[in-house]
Amino acid sequence: MIAASYSRKSHVTRNVTERSVQEQDAMSLKAAQKNSWDLTPSRMYRDNNISASRYSKEERPDWERLQKVLETEPVDVLIMYETSRAWRKLYEWAALVELCADSKVLIHITADGRTYDPNEDSDWSALMEGGFDSEKESRKIRKRVKRAIDANKSQGKPHGRPPYGYETRIDPEDLKKKIRVRIPEQAKIVKEIITRVAKSIPIASIVKDLNERGIVIPSVARGAKPNKRSKDVVLWSPPMIRWICNNIAYIGKVEFEGKLIDATWPPIVDDEDFEEIFWKANNLLKDPERKTTIPARNKYLLSALGDCGECNATLRRRGGSDLESYTCLDKGCVTMRMEWVDTFISELVCNKLAEKDVMAQIFARDDKHLYAEQEALNAELQVALDARAKRELSLRAYMQEEKIILARLEEIQRLIKPAMIPKTVEDLTKDAQGNLKTIRSRWAKLEIPAKKDVIRTLFESIKIMKSSTTKKVRTDEQIEESLRERVKIKWAHE
Ligand SMILES: [Zn+2]
Repeated sequence: MIAASYSRKSHVTRNVTERSVQEQDAMSLKAAQKNSWDLTPSRMYRDNNISASRYSKEERPDWERLQKVLETEPVDVLIMYETSRAWRKLYEWAALVELCADSKVLIHITADGRTYDPNEDSDWSALMEGGFDSEKESRKIRKRVKRAIDANKSQGKPHGRPPYGYETRIDPEDLKKKIRVRIPEQAKIVKEIITRVAKSIPIASIVKDLNERGIVIPSVARGAKPNKRSKDVVLWSPPMIRWICNNIAYIGKVEFEGKLIDATWPPIVDDEDFEEIFWKANNLLKDPERKTTIPARNKYLLSALGDCGECNATLRRRGGSDLESYTCLDKGCVTMRMEWVDTFISELVCNKLAEKDVMAQIFARDDKHLYAEQEALNAELQVALDARAKRELSLRAYMQEEKIILARLEEIQRLIKPAMIPKTVEDLTKDAQGNLKTIRSRWAKLEIPAKKDVIRTLFESIKIMKSSTTKKVRTDEQIEESLRERVKIKWAHE
């Protein structure tokens, strides 16, 4: 019989029964020898020092390879130390058992000294129970690790290496204590990045600017040697900007049990309004609309923002002539002069922002029900797990439940919209007292990406419909009438 083996070392567990990868390999070889199975080094898969638990985000390359081999190559038996070596999530472990069943691969667990046939009902449930116990174990271990980190976090103490902008020093007042302090020149860069993102300046242009000025990237500034093989490594990139804008350490906070608590270190700058600016930048980046950067979307007010009223495709610019227009991306069902539409939408925005209670309107958006659902689902998951631990719930039922709940939780995460509004909206209305003229001139000075952020905040949708007549519009009145008829808007807060 042809055998394959899989060994894995987890860095999270440090219990007595933990075996090194070498030990696990040796046990696999011994099992193969004893049973006269053909186990060659090329079929011995191993992942070193990588946790396969559901709480670990790391990838396991050999694990991926092994699954492919089981599917495509004539393997008769898979040798593992114990079931927890193999699974990441319970339903993934289940999938492996199913895969072995389908491919007629036996599973030998060296810790049990036993070979299971996943096509046999009793063996199948024994394997599955093993996976379930592993899941329970993983959750327990995770709790233990979390407790240690939490002990630090709950007191706002630093945990791990300080982020870019800070360094660890010995406390001059208590030489046994380490404290986290700012590095002024790096702190300045952090402040600059976060402030510019909050102002809706495109990440790409921030990146370009930092690179042109020759600002050293965080990892190198913190002592890492630049990788010689890749030039890019020494340049700023959008993920670095996002990382900085998402790090609450910069406002001197630590997240603990879903709440933010004050850290023992200072915010990256002393400015009073910095925390507010940080949240604006943070929320702007969460907006899925900003995740992709199509150059054109930053040039024209409604490209990739408005939709075709006929086929729902997004609008794009149609150039070529002096008279630029918006047209539908797919079929070109609708076309309308860009200048007219932009003026029309700009007027709607300025008039809306001049309304007395506009801020109250915008803030009225309510995600409370989503937070409530999130909490309920987490509780449900715990109930299911407890029920399973008491064997009140079948394994299949538990797995199904888990899969559904996790999927919905992910969805909710996406749905929870930033509660903050772009700084630009506030800047437009601040102290304007509803003065339309002031708001108009401020609006005119904004860059297109900033304008688009405002539009995204104010409108749920903007659609251009087909014209109902073939008559040419010429006079201002006709243009106005045609715009009112064809540009259909939906406010986000009504
Ligand atoms: Zn269309």
